[in-house]
Amino acid sequence: MASVYIGLGGNLDCPKSHISQGLIELNHLPNTKYIICSSFYQSKPMGPQDQPDYINAVAKIITMLTPENLLLCLQQIEKNHQRIKTRHWGERTLDLDILLYEDIQLKTVRLTIPHPRMHERGFVMYPLEEIAPHLIIPSMGHIRELIPHCIYTDITKLDETPYPISA
Ligand code: ADP
Ligand code: MG
Repeated sequence: MASVYIGLGGNLDCPKSHISQGLIELNHLPNTKYIICSSFYQSKPMGPQDQPDYINAVAKIITMLTPENLLLCLQQIEKNHQRIKTRHWGERTLDLDILLYEDIQLKTVRLTIPHPRMHERGFVMYPLEEIAPHLIIPSMGHIRELIPHCIYTDITKLDETPYPISA
């Protein structure tokens, strides 16, 4: 089984529910088990500013799916949530990104792991640090040393976590 960190985010149509439901769907993927999720974090949009604030979280799963197959599954979950592509960095109900897959480094047309912009994004790095404070990110370094260099840091940790998932 591979340990994988997934970034979840959205800003439309009650994003906390979309994230909570997304975790249940992750837990139902073949040969995959949900392990833990961070608190919710709220942040200003990174792209166009005329859209609602974002809610983000980071989850850890273990899976036997390959990175490519996992990406296909994540895209199907996004579709289940009626994610519609609007504009670049535009509003969405649910975005699921593979942040890390074990210590694999991979770059294809469809998939780059580690996620290439994760180290810039406070809304990824803070929730990731919450659940993996000692993590070393391949080719990037220790999470504690990366966090001070994040660009998008206008982020608030909410005193709320996704609803629990029973086995
Ligand atoms: P973003 O997440 O940057 O807002 P999208 O969710 O629309 O953008 O994803 C755009 C493309 O990014 C996807 O079609 C996917 O093939 C590609 N991609 C590359 N690396 C990853 C990754 N690590 N996780 C998820 N998608 C990725
Ligand atoms: Mg994405």
